[in-house]
Amino acid sequence: MKGSRVVVTGGAGFLGSYLCERLLGRGAAVVCLDNFLTGSPRNVEHLIGRPAFRLVECDLTGFVHVPGQVDLVLHFASAASPADYLRHPIETLKVGSMGTLHALGLAAEKGARLVLASTSEVYGDPLEHPQKETYWGNVNPVGPRSVYDEAKRFAESLTTAYRNSRGTDTAIVRIFNTYGPRMRPYDGRAIPTFIRQALLGEPITVTGDGTQTRSICYVDDTIDGVLALADSDFAGPVNIGNPAEMSMAALAETIRDLAGSSSPVRFVERPVDDPAVRRPDTTLAEERLGWRPRVDPVTGLRRTIDWFEKELNLSCSAAS
Ligand code: NAD
Repeated sequence: MKGSRVVVTGGAGFLGSYLCERLLGRGAAVVCLDNFLTGSPRNVEHLIGRPAFRLVECDLTGFVHVPGQVDLVLHFASAASPADYLRHPIETLKVGSMGTLHALGLAAEKGARLVLASTSEVYGDPLEHPQKETYWGNVNPVGPRSVYDEAKRFAESLTTAYRNSRGTDTAIVRIFNTYGPRMRPYDGRAIPTFIRQALLGEPITVTGDGTQTRSICYVDDTIDGVLALADSDFAGPVNIGNPAEMSMAALAETIRDLAGSSSPVRFVERPVDDPAVRRPDTTLAEERLGWRPRVDPVTGLRRTIDWFEKELNLSCSAAS
C-alpha cells in the first residue's frame, strides 16, 4: 500500500471517511472525491492538512479527471440510507450508472484496480436465506427502493462488462448493513434512529411488527473486508457482513437497554418492499479473503451509542 495512490469516491461519507483514514494509515496517498450530497467535509476534517490527503469537491456524474498516477479506485459514492435515496431518486440512479461509468473509465485509463461498493439490496426481498453470492435476488424494478437497488444492479453489470470486455481489474463487494460512529443521527437508517430516540427518551419507532430481520456489521469489520478485497486479485462479488441476525424489535430493545433508556417501542407503518429477512452467507469471504467479522453487536452498538451521546450533546450545546 505504501507508495500507492488511491481515489475514494464518496470519501466524505460514512464508510468512505473510514477508508480514507485507514489508507493514509497504511502509507497510501488518498484523493477523496465527493459532492457532499449525503456526506460532509466534517467527516474527513481530521485528515485535511495531511500532505498525502486531498479532498476534491466533485460530482461523479459530471466530468471526472484525476491527474497523475492512480493504483486503486474505491467507488463508494452513492446515497445509501433509504431516506436519502428516496429524497434523491434521480441523483441515486445517476451516480449508480453515470458515476460508475466515470469511475470505471478512470480506473481503465490509469490501469488501476476498482472496487465497487455494491449492496445486499441487490438481493431485494430475498427468497433464499441466508443470501449467497450465487442468488440473483428478488427486486421490484418499479418499486420506490428500485432507484437504489437497480442502480447498484446496473453498476454491478457495468463493472462486470468492463472486466470482461476491456480487461479492467475490478472487484464487487456486496456490503450488508453497517453501523458505527460518524453515522448521521437523522440519516433515517434504523440504528442511528433507534439510538437517537433512546438517548433523547423519545419513542423508538420500529416498522411493521418488528419481526423482519437484519444482520448488522460494525464499521471496522466492513472496512477490513473491503481492504482485504482491494488487496486481493479476487473479482467477487463477495458478501461482507456479520451473519449475527436479529429482528428489528430485538435490535430496538438491545439498543434501549445498552443506552440505559426507558423509551417505549412504537410500531409504525412498514415501508413498501421492505425486505423480510437479511443475512449474509460469508463462506466466500472467509475462503477467498480470510475475512470474518470480529466485533459482536453488543460491543459495536455500545461504541456507537457512546459516540452518539457525545455527538448529540455537542449539537445541543452548539444550538444553545
Ligand atoms: P453515505 O451517504 O454516508 O456516503 C456516500 C457518499 O457519496 C457521500 O459522502 C455523498 O456525498 C457521496 N456522493 C453521493 N453522490 C455523489 C456524486 N454524484 N458524486 C460524488 N459523491 C457523491 O453512505 P455510506 O453508508 O457511507 O455508503 C457508502 C457506499 O457503500 C454506498 O455506495 C453504499 O451504497 C454502500 N453501502 C453501504 C452500506 C451501509 O450499511 N453503510 C451497505 C451497503 C452498501
